[in-house]
Amino acid sequence: MEQDARANAAEATFEELLAGSVAAHGHLCPGQIVGVRMALLGLRLMNFEAPPTYSQLKQLIVFIEMDRCTGDAVAYVTNVKLGRRSLKFVDYGIMAATFVNLESGQAFRVISTEESRDLTLTYAPLETEKRRAQVAAYRIMPDSVLFRVQQVQVDLTPFDLPGPTRRKVTCVQCGQVVRDNREVVKDGLPYCRPCAGGGYFSEAREITWEEMNWAPMLPRPEKVGPPIQPESAATGRRVP
Ligand SMILES: [Zn+2]
Ligand SMILES: [Zn+2]
Repeated sequence: MEQDARANAAEATFEELLAGSVAAHGHLCPGQIVGVRMALLGLRLMNFEAPPTYSQLKQLIVFIEMDRCTGDAVAYVTNVKLGRRSLKFVDYGIMAATFVNLESGQAFRVISTEESRDLTLTYAPLETEKRRAQVAAYRIMPDSVLFRVQQVQVDLTPFDLPGPTRRKVTCVQCGQVVRDNREVVKDGLPYCRPCAGGGYFSEAREITWEEMNWAPMLPRPEKVGPPIQPESAATGRRVP
């Protein structure tokens, strides 16, 4: 009886969190189910509630290894946020997330298995459409089929933690301020990552635009004109 009540409560929590995650993400997809369950498992391994209490949230850091549907669900259920530095995105392209307890130092990496994809029809034999079958199957698959779990060591420095900025330096090439020890030192001088050659963009040129003196307290400009092309490129080469 007591076990039934606990199972019902757990299912209610799952359905509630899934509904919230679907609303935040924009649609119900197999990734939402996997992500909600990934977060529930991670939190359970840490002995945290789902969603975490405020004091638990302050001890929680989550690394998400893919920018896919699942990642949104993990972030929703755990309530970690990029802006609070409790959500770390690492671009591995792996369906996995690591849950770190800052207080105990314990960390669990929960990995979605490829086998679970192959077993979809075993768990949802009546569904003919693949996506619907996945949605149905991932609800009822045991955690042991859906996931592998590793206990891992995560080395965080004070520069990775929430709280005020601990260090600021100025890039000697572009003048941009770099926070939290993210600069690259070359020949003893600090550079931002883009200037050090590790940027995701290239050909950067400062532009001006017609309505550039607008602010929210002013009337909306009727239309935003095209960027005014600089006479000559300040930095980098102009794209022809
Ligand atoms: Zn999705
Ligand atoms: Zn720079």
